Amino acid sequence: MNYFKLPKIDLHCHLDGSVRPETIIDLAKQLGVEIPSTNIEVMKSLMVAPENCPNLMEYLSRFHYPVSVMQTEEALERITFELYEDAAKENVKYLETRYGPQLHRQNGLTFDQIIASTVRGMRKAEEMYDIKGNLIISVVKVLPKNDIYEMIDSGAKYIGNGIVAFDLAASEDQDFCHDYIEHTEYAIEKGYRITIHAGEQGYGQNVHDAIKLLHAERIGHGIAIRDHKASYNLVYSNRIALETCPTSNVQTKAVQSLADHSVNDFYQDGIVVTINTDNRTVSDTTMTKELQKTFEQFDLSLEDYKNIYRNSVENAFTTDEIKKHLLSLID
Ligand SMILES: [Zn+2]
Repeated sequence: MNYFKLPKIDLHCHLDGSVRPETIIDLAKQLGVEIPSTNIEVMKSLMVAPENCPNLMEYLSRFHYPVSVMQTEEALERITFELYEDAAKENVKYLETRYGPQLHRQNGLTFDQIIASTVRGMRKAEEMYDIKGNLIISVVKVLPKNDIYEMIDSGAKYIGNGIVAFDLAASEDQDFCHDYIEHTEYAIEKGYRITIHAGEQGYGQNVHDAIKLLHAERIGHGIAIRDHKASYNLVYSNRIALETCPTSNVQTKAVQSLADHSVNDFYQDGIVVTINTDNRTVSDTTMTKELQKTFEQFDLSLEDYKNIYRNSVENAFTTDEIKKHLLSLID
């Protein structure tokens, strides 16, 4: 299979984990942000998480330098544009990018400015390349909750015009869903679709909670359902799509190795799985690499690819018109 040539869809990709190292160096110079080196290889080594990352916290530390330069409108627009450009160049035809606006206020940007900049960057790439996209706003759970409603209100102005969904991200505690019921309900009222990071770090119950308490339509990762029967059954019977990110799960030690990843077991059981990058830079991956690794590991075929691609289309937070277009590329 020519994985590069295949049309691809990525539903789970973080903006701050997918910044080109050379762009960090360039922006750091422009903005006067201190970075340890202006050598691309050195900066890359500080951003890419090792295969044997000891834990999720070590993995999350890789976002420090990207976030330090993502503090102006120009930087956010550029980085969003470049992500869509990179994806388009490997035949990703539809990309949903998520980011946490709360992280980009260090120099006083408003939520409106942050969100407008990312939409501009995405639109510019859509005009230049054969790619479509939408943006997802992620709450960074380790940050204070006091500005979440304001963030939802700012994003709501772009619902149907760049922003589509609401997500909860960052390291996963047991029972976190209970703390975000009102925020998520408010987001739903404002027109957001819901996807939630859950079941990434071993808490299968969080997947159940995300679906039942937060009305998640898709689950980020969700691999912990393999050890949690009730969540497994709920995901299966409600046809909730799992946004799996195999390389990232190996790096964060959510699974011991790719061979130990449940994506294929889920797929064979009839669970709706999709395959995604999570973080192009931090995980040193692309959709091409992610598919090739996973398909070779589990000996999957072109027919399997078409099934998984169709899962991504069906569960994309986009219009029927774009879905029809995406389906026409594979049939
Ligand atoms: Zn993620």
